[in-house]
Amino acid sequence: MSRPKEDIWLRIIDKVVPIPCVPLGGYCFSWTGAINESGYGRFNHNLNTKNLSTLIHRLVYQLLVDNIPSKIEVDHICKNRTCCNPNHLRLATKSENLKNRKFNRGS
Ligand SMILES: [Zn+2]
Repeated sequence: MSRPKEDIWLRIIDKVVPIPCVPLGGYCFSWTGAINESGYGRFNHNLNTKNLSTLIHRLVYQLLVDNIPSKIEVDHICKNRTCCNPNHLRLATKSENLKNRKFNRGS
């Protein structure tokens, strides 16, 4: 008995606010819900009896763009960790993600 997808969307949209995105122009969809210790947005949902917590940008990517292969991370092009605008997300390996992070530090 899965809950309808629209129900998840309503819960996501309820907690997202558009904020101007400086590096890319346009808007980041900033998550105003729970944030984990690394600064990423967290979404709690119940699937059957399991209580699951998912990173919101990974969930949005999976719902709107594509599946995420194992060991692949979803990188924020806009560098806003709470952003879940699918246009600001891209797949990256862990080493690519770290390289991007280092490259962008100090700018
Ligand atoms: Zn963004």
